[in-house]
Amino acid sequence: MKFSNLHTHTTFSDGKGTVRENVISAIERGMVSLGFSDHSFTGCDTSYCMLPEDYGKYKAEVLAAREEFGDRISIFHGIEKDYFSTLNPSDYDYIIASVHYIIEGGKVFAIDHGRSYQDECVEYAFGGDSLAMARRYFSMVAEQARLVKPDIIGHFDVINKFGMFRDDEGEYYEIAADAMRETLRYCKRFEVNTGAIARGYKEKPYPSPKLLSLLCELGGEVVLGSDSHRPENLDFYFRESVELIRAAGFKSISRLTYSGFESVEI
Ligand SMILES: [Zn+2]
Ligand SMILES: [Zn+2]
Repeated sequence: MKFSNLHTHTTFSDGKGTVRENVISAIERGMVSLGFSDHSFTGCDTSYCMLPEDYGKYKAEVLAAREEFGDRISIFHGIEKDYFSTLNPSDYDYIIASVHYIIEGGKVFAIDHGRSYQDECVEYAFGGDSLAMARRYFSMVAEQARLVKPDIIGHFDVINKFGMFRDDEGEYYEIAADAMRETLRYCKRFEVNTGAIARGYKEKPYPSPKLLSLLCELGGEVVLGSDSHRPENLDFYFRESVELIRAAGFKSISRLTYSGFESVEI
């Protein structure tokens, strides 16, 4: 099947390739469409995100690439919206909603930067109770879905990027599963995100296998997302992910076209 990736970072945020370099790589890979999703501006950490004054330039570059390459590939102007960002949804073809920070007592904890940041968050913000941190994270995922009604839920269980919990087990799993049920009331489409595999943190994509099966059981939909920060990783682990998606019970994946999302049989 021809792949599409809707989770792409460029030099506008923390990616290594330009918009144009990513489009050329996607065409070389035989991809049918490519969506850009640079990080929305977060005032609590400006080191990795777009600045508001660059939003217009970002859109112009994506639209220029659509103009130049549109006969070979469909190109979309999306954004990865963080919980702590505000933006105008009508400016974008689609929105991926993600949670990257927990803020407590005026302190900002990045939850996907490293295990040490998470350990500090557990100690400082939750008195050593790691499950309380998981509860907070997942409640923010569900809350953002309710407030924003995004097109896609980004890296649903990224809180376990560094293996603090056993995937799919015990109370951690129950917290995640409850949050999935709540999130699905507002957004049915989750991404199967391979970004942490490309960077050597995980062996399986988000959501974890049991959560992915639950998503299928609950009537959710999936899109593929590589969370790519380099043009050569645009379709990283996609073939394997289709097998995992099938094994979880799905018969199709969702793909964005100029007339909206459509289902593609797998
Ligand atoms: Zn993210
Ligand atoms: Zn991302």
